[in-house]
Amino acid sequence: MNVGQILKDKGRRVVVNEAAATIDEIVKELAEKKIGAVVIVDEVGKVAGIVSERDVMRSLAQNGASTLAQSAASIMTRDVVTCREGDSVNRIMEAMTAGRFRHVPVVGDDLRLTGIVSIGDVVKNHIAEGELEASALKSYVAG
Ligand code: AMP
Repeated sequence: MNVGQILKDKGRRVVVNEAAATIDEIVKELAEKKIGAVVIVDEVGKVAGIVSERDVMRSLAQNGASTLAQSAASIMTRDVVTCREGDSVNRIMEAMTAGRFRHVPVVGDDLRLTGIVSIGDVVKNHIAEGELEASALKSYVAG
């Protein structure tokens, strides 16, 4: 299974914002859309960073409530690991485990965003593949 197949099932909508957005705005998006991260894009739609709930929590612990007035740029991770639609789900799983993050934006040849894969999508896929394998084995054993 590859990333493109996951996107075909779940859709390609990604919640994005710009680096100048306030954390207050980002927090509202995270809560309203029930998601864990917002991808920050530049003026041509290329990935410029990512703000996850962890970044907000870290900044709240360090700076308190003044965090909410700060810009996304001040807390976002700039060195974002991205993937392509042709990448295998196993590869994404390895990247998430090694980097200890739960979101991987998907980009096209022009480096513009085409989707996002979260740890939840990866786990869902893993369970579905396990079930498929189990039922194939069952019918093999049953002859
Ligand atoms: P997460 O587990 O995705 O909530 O993120 C944990 C930390 O990793 C936060 O500091 C995020 O900004 C950062 N992060 C999330 N996704 C990525 C990614 N694809 N590449 C690099 N850092 C990321």
